[in-house]
Amino acid sequence: MNIILKLQAETIINLNTECEMKDFQIKKSDTEYDAIVIGSGAGGGMAAYVLAHAGQKVLMLEAGDHFDPRTDAQQLKWPWESPRRGASTTRPFGDFDASYGGWVLDGEPYTQKDNSEFAWFRSRMLGGRTNHWGRISLRMGPEDFKPKDGLTDSWPITYDDLKPFYDKVDRLIGVYGTVEGIENEPDGIFLPPPKPRLHELFIRKGAKKAGVTVIPGRGSVLTEALPGNKERGSCFFCGQCGRACKVYADFSASSCLVIPAVKTGNLTVITNAMVREVLTDKAGLATGVSYVNTRDLQEHQVRGKVVILGASACESARLLMNSKSAAHPDGIANSSGVVGKYLHDSTGASLSGFLPQLMDRKRYNEDGVGSVHIYSPWWLNNKNLDFPRGYHIEYGGGMHMPSYGFGGGMQGMNGLVPGRDGQMKEAGGYGASLKDDYRRFYGTGVGMAGRGTAIARESNYCEIDPKTVDKFGIPVLRFHYKWAPEEVKQAKHMQETFKEIMHGMGAVITSKLPGADTNYGLEAPGKIIHEVGTVRMGDDPKTSALNKYCQAHDCKNLFVVDAAPFVQQGDKNATWTILALSMRTAEYILAQKKKLNVG
Ligand SMILES: Cc1cc2nc3c(=O)[nH]c(=O)nc-3n(C[C@H](O)[C@H](O)[C@H](O)COP(=O)(O)OP(=O)(O)OC[C@H]3O[C@@H](n4cnc5c(N)ncnc54)[C@H](O)[C@@H]3O)c2cc1C
Ligand code: SF4
Repeated sequence: MNIILKLQAETIINLNTECEMKDFQIKKSDTEYDAIVIGSGAGGGMAAYVLAHAGQKVLMLEAGDHFDPRTDAQQLKWPWESPRRGASTTRPFGDFDASYGGWVLDGEPYTQKDNSEFAWFRSRMLGGRTNHWGRISLRMGPEDFKPKDGLTDSWPITYDDLKPFYDKVDRLIGVYGTVEGIENEPDGIFLPPPKPRLHELFIRKGAKKAGVTVIPGRGSVLTEALPGNKERGSCFFCGQCGRACKVYADFSASSCLVIPAVKTGNLTVITNAMVREVLTDKAGLATGVSYVNTRDLQEHQVRGKVVILGASACESARLLMNSKSAAHPDGIANSSGVVGKYLHDSTGASLSGFLPQLMDRKRYNEDGVGSVHIYSPWWLNNKNLDFPRGYHIEYGGGMHMPSYGFGGGMQGMNGLVPGRDGQMKEAGGYGASLKDDYRRFYGTGVGMAGRGTAIARESNYCEIDPKTVDKFGIPVLRFHYKWAPEEVKQAKHMQETFKEIMHGMGAVITSKLPGADTNYGLEAPGKIIHEVGTVRMGDDPKTSALNKYCQAHDCKNLFVVDAAPFVQQGDKNATWTILALSMRTAEYILAQKKKLNVG
């Protein structure tokens, strides 16, 4: 604690030499909240929603700015309105994308150990990364919770334990899809899915030839009105969910959880509040947290009967490890030493191409939802493969509002097919010929991306870097993450499958086919933005930090509700499981409060 304060003071002096000494005094609040929730993303948002609706007085601390999609989204703007011609200068996914953040945040570094390449995506805004996520909303299956191959530990809960909460999340938030009866891809309570578009019909044909199952997508977009909810509009298919939705037709934690929870009168949200550590009493129980106002760097302390961490998987691990005291010398909830370990992100590899059959196609609006219209759940049996577990495939392509850029990678397309005169055309070009290419190729693009299960390994971890602090003086994370042959073989299989599907639908492949030298295009860990597992749950306090209700073994009034408690992720994107787990934990907290087991 003393060291941390000292580091902070030095950083503030460096940052703001005009600060008067009185500013270093910590401001302490007298109010004691029933619960303090850290972070307003999927995990924090759901916990606050459940508790505030149950009448608990809740304080939410969010490091980023306020963001309400209704007023702040950049939806329905023309490309030429973009101040930087749509470039990704300030946002990784383009100027209009609703992410206040990215893999690099000014003044908030993270470091790597042993040439590790972990990439950490953070968004600093109300709703966190759910304002611009892909909305692909998949349940984990029974085998994901209890893997049969013995390679990784089982969760202390089964699919059946979480199923009622997945069901409640489906009803509360809304998700489209179709009932398919695939055992490890459980069905939900679905709204109708959007129809496949022309390029997706080609994909379906190619996949069928390759023996790959394709089913309607599953996404949290209201393709029709959500029963019983008058606050949210229905989707009008503009395809711009990544910019956030002004009518609240897609899920973001800000629009669907935090803002409704504030309306109960029971939730207070403080934005620009970067939590530094969890405070404890002599017995080691949580008493509140300290946070830095990111605007004036003033330090505050607030009190709560229960503390709930939903700051995202790695940030929650960082907070726990930075919360050292006599009762918790290695950081709170870390007597097992497991905090930070078992970090894993989905595997990911992709391939792009175009459909020559669609050149010069008729123009019409096929924007659709800003999530997937179709996808391929894992379809194979591992007994016949040289790698464990599996992956699903997400598909893209087709016509969208033309934007700044190079016509969907025009430089990789033209020169691969004959020109209008039937003669082979050279790649490149300019002027009238290039403009003609743009018109001919518009809407022909197709792409596919695999998202697979990476093995949770103790040797992949984040820890506190003893030498580096961020601009608030808070010690930062240092990552150590290496892919192993299991993940590389999975990427190789993805590429072979993609190639077969592309050939099956008559597409021309435009990406360079990656080989062993690049791990078959396997993205660096963190790049898929599904990082989980850093504060894992389990029945044994020696090998896990949390019990099966996401309650710290070492501190009964401390809970973690983001992706940190995951024991092992399936090939399913994490958010629907974060939401279900967080709802389950919040209901458990309410039950424990009733029994007077926690504050
Ligand atoms: C481009 C993109 C596409 C994605 N697509 C999908 C998809 O299709 N399907 C899917 O399931 N998942 C997807 N994801 C992942 C998904 O966004 C995350 O799983 C989800 O948002 C995690 O929720 P969370 O609550 O754990 O964390 P976050 O959403 O990251 O929220 C954490 C919040 O805590 C705040 N915070 C952090 N540290 C502190 C602190 N010290 N003090 C106070 N506040 C703090 C942050 O500012 C943030 O607002 C995608 C992510 C991105 C970026
Ligand atoms: S596609 Fe639908 S949900 Fe997405 S931003 Fe447009 S209207 Fe909203």
